[in-house]
Amino acid sequence: MKADRHADIVVVGAGIAGLTAALEAAPRRVLLLASSPLTEGASSAWAQGGIAAAIAADDSVALHLADTRAAGAGLVDDEAAQAVLARAPAAIAALVARGVAFDKEEDGSLALGREAAHGRRRIAHVSGDATGLAVMRALADAVVRAPHVEQLQASARSLLVESGRVVGVVAEQDGRSVTIAAGGVLLATGGVGQLYDRTTNPLDARGDGLALAARAGAELVDLEFVQFHPTAIDVEANPRPLATEALRGEGATLIDRDGHRFMPAIDPAAELAPRDVVARAIFHQQASGQGAFLDAREAVGARFPSRFPTVFGLCAAHGIDPRTMPIPVAPAAHYHMGGIAADARGRTSLPGLWAAGEVASTGMHGANRLASNSLLEALVAGGVAAADLRERNQPAPAALPDAPLPLDPPRDAARIEALRVLMGNLVGVVRDKAGLTAARKSFATLLDAPGELGRRATVSFLIATAALAREESRGGHFRRDHPAPNEAARTRRRWTLTAAHDFAREREAA
Ligand SMILES: Cc1cc2nc3c(=O)[nH]c(=O)nc-3n(C[C@H](O)[C@H](O)[C@H](O)COP(=O)(O)OP(=O)(O)OC[C@H]3O[C@@H](n4cnc5c(N)ncnc54)[C@H](O)[C@@H]3O)c2cc1C
Repeated sequence: MKADRHADIVVVGAGIAGLTAALEAAPRRVLLLASSPLTEGASSAWAQGGIAAAIAADDSVALHLADTRAAGAGLVDDEAAQAVLARAPAAIAALVARGVAFDKEEDGSLALGREAAHGRRRIAHVSGDATGLAVMRALADAVVRAPHVEQLQASARSLLVESGRVVGVVAEQDGRSVTIAAGGVLLATGGVGQLYDRTTNPLDARGDGLALAARAGAELVDLEFVQFHPTAIDVEANPRPLATEALRGEGATLIDRDGHRFMPAIDPAAELAPRDVVARAIFHQQASGQGAFLDAREAVGARFPSRFPTVFGLCAAHGIDPRTMPIPVAPAAHYHMGGIAADARGRTSLPGLWAAGEVASTGMHGANRLASNSLLEALVAGGVAAADLRERNQPAPAALPDAPLPLDPPRDAARIEALRVLMGNLVGVVRDKAGLTAARKSFATLLDAPGELGRRATVSFLIATAALAREESRGGHFRRDHPAPNEAARTRRRWTLTAAHDFAREREAA
């Protein structure tokens, strides 16, 4: 069929990974697709903590790698992590050159914050807790001025594959299909948080990139590893606002409804224990009716509005004054360590398809992400993938293979919400065989549902299947029926949609 548009490179997603890739792909012609206007709809714009980089005099890439490996619970791919961490100082310098005004010490050096599980102060931040937005604005300004980038506010609906190679994208714009022929396609669609009923992620984090890649036959990996942020503010809102970990770094404590700290009895690092440990502790507090609150009255107190302006604003919007009252908190889906299997250049198992940022999984984060390593990865991986696409310089095909061009039907809000609740209850912080089996069966019945419902069911099915297959607990994946890590299971597991169906059939036959 005839393509509506042609581009050397199509970048799907305009978070930090997509924007960086679009900029770095010059002079190739880039068509940048995003579901929402620039700087909206992306987790990148909401990042509060900052960007990790071994810059301080007492720090090194080796120390940063050691912390990354410790968080990753035995599954970090050293090469992938080392490649990103080594580029961190240069990535920060490139942002400074683009005008990002990182916070500075009085002597003019970068002010570096400390976060849980980082052995050194290495978090570069802007205006305290507004890092993501500042970086996004700088990158978006550059994209708007870049003559080689054309933007299209549209949602990718499927990938076009010819003889095993990705040759284009079908997108939906204002209720119309748009077919795009491309020399190469980079997926940078972010995470999966919105598959869950409680999440910190923006509405666009529906896992679209994973659904598109899986349906096109690509390999996905480590899908069961979802990080739940322990301290999302527990208010009726989607997404849930986040109370950054830096608050605990400043000394804020976790207390129950009687004012007792519960973390010291659970982990020697107390409130600064790994995220999964804190998330499970809060989960159990809530399940037992004791509640969980983040108490920053003493540690931050009157400094709250100036030190954490974003969190202060989020609290205020829900009638909470964190200077005088503890903040109610609950775990919420926050970051996906799994994703489309990608190598060090962002290449996937399908020729013509690249992936970068949260939608990809290179193994850098292993089974659990170290805080503030993900903006870094999105920055570095977006640039590296763009360089590979640029050098490869494959022309867009003149014509596209014939394919259906279905438009999304009206959104089935009730059934989508039901899927989200199932994910939260059965594929959430604490999992077990019975729940995962039930969830997977429900998702399986909706794999072919049209539109958003089918895409969500596809990714939910894959995550539940991967979680069922991993009969151990590791990093972000906790099975109450297999509560310990199992050395024999310490491998990264790749999945295709076909492999997930086969696994399910084998399980049913057994
Ligand atoms: C509240 C919050 C705070 C965080 N704080 C930090 C932090 O301090 N430090 C850190 O390192 N990490 C942090 N993270 C994680 C980090 O922000 C993300 O991992 C990172 O920003 C992901 O970048 P990305 O470019 O891959 O995706 P995103 O920034 O999420 O961008 C995804 C893009 O894809 C688009 N999109 C999605 N589906 C489609 C489709 N079908 N078609 C077209 N476009 C589509 C979206 O509109 C968006 O433009 C935080 C995350 C959240 C939610």
